Amino acid sequence: MPTATAVVERNAYDAAMENFDHAADALELARDVREMIKYPERILTVGVPVRMESGRIRHFDGYRVQHSTVRGPAKGGIRYHPNVTLDEVKALATWMTWKCAVVNIPFGGAKGGVTCNPKEMSSGELERMTRRYTSAILPLIGPEIDIPAPDVYTNSQTMAWIMDTYSVTKGYSIPGVVTGKPISLGGSLGRNEATGRGVFYTIQSACQHLGMSLTGATVAVQGFGNAGSIAANLLFDAGAKVIAVSDSTGCIRNPKGLDIPILMRYKETTGKVAGFPDSEPIYAQELLGLECDILVPAALENTIHEENAQYVRARIVAEAANGPVTPDADRILDSKGVFLIPDILCNAGGVTVSYFEWVQDEQHLFWESQDIYDRLERVMKTAFRDVLKIQTDRQLPMRIAANMLGVGRVAEAVQIRGLYP
Ligand code: NAD
Repeated sequence: MPTATAVVERNAYDAAMENFDHAADALELARDVREMIKYPERILTVGVPVRMESGRIRHFDGYRVQHSTVRGPAKGGIRYHPNVTLDEVKALATWMTWKCAVVNIPFGGAKGGVTCNPKEMSSGELERMTRRYTSAILPLIGPEIDIPAPDVYTNSQTMAWIMDTYSVTKGYSIPGVVTGKPISLGGSLGRNEATGRGVFYTIQSACQHLGMSLTGATVAVQGFGNAGSIAANLLFDAGAKVIAVSDSTGCIRNPKGLDIPILMRYKETTGKVAGFPDSEPIYAQELLGLECDILVPAALENTIHEENAQYVRARIVAEAANGPVTPDADRILDSKGVFLIPDILCNAGGVTVSYFEWVQDEQHLFWESQDIYDRLERVMKTAFRDVLKIQTDRQLPMRIAANMLGVGRVAEAVQIRGLYP
């Protein structure tokens, strides 16, 4: 496995469009229906001026894209990252539409982002940026219209600022405008760990399908953030051996298995996985090529591409991240017999519990955590079964099967609704 990351520009929106076309072809969707559901409904680009700690004003670019509201309000996270572009946000919004349909929740797809480096910003700068960005996208969001949530480098605090800014403008508290809020503001039990937990349930289903035991299975996790660390922890609890993990600061390995609860505390204290006792450092690219049963890419898009896919030696690739495998890499993994759990299925636990949070907020009635886990497990395992059935019946890759399920449900909804006028 080469240790350097190849510098090849890949556009996530092109990948999203290509995935759509494969699914639409397999579904033999009429051209008119494709035209109605393929492209984003609304795109808003905003300027976000922020007073920095230096006293100077700095401009940031922000976006909110609603890809679809055919099946319900638009839903999708907000990302703060230096690499955020409009095309990336469009791709992530498109995937949200199919994802909500795969788990059959009554939402469409959206996404937002601000191009910034939150690691270099103070808490005050982040708060001022979040409030200004919220004011700028205010006409587009609302509990019945479009409901943001956390994504990369945003969290429950970010959601609290958005909820406050929105509520202050309306004159009363409106918790249902965002999900992933702190519990004290109407957040849901189980939301913080929902994505990782959903990843875990789909891995359980995949192991059962392949006749593999999770006990003693070896796992590598790229991206030890919210999705990756919680999936790793649940796999550890289930008896799997997590042999390598990485974050943006480094990559560590222990062939005997890392103690994930202790590693989580170490990362909480130091802000990184590098230097964890009882581990050795390896190159980031090496992790993807490690011999293991389950590889969990849980960082960003385009991690596994045509230049490194051939080195993947895992039996299962579970896409906790959105878009971590490019279409070219898909074909390579498929030819190697890798079992892929595609992103719009694998990481749908986050939006599923976001939906539970929104329902609880709307009803002013809150559920116990066990109730949430049970409902989430049912939703994820049903979705896995539905996708697997298409894959088996049609002998198609899991990615196409998942997209067929999502695209097919949206196509059905749009045809029943018809076009106005
Ligand atoms: P996060 O900010 O909590 O964590 C991201 C992690 O990735 C961090 O540990 C960061 O250090 C690491 N990282 C960044 N660049 C890296 C690199 N080049 N190599 C290795 N690690 C790297 O974000 P998150 O919420 O866990 O999101 C991760 C992925 O999961 C994203 O693709 C996101 O869209 C997807 N996702 C998240 C949710 C959710 O509810 N949080 C839901 C669905 C999908």
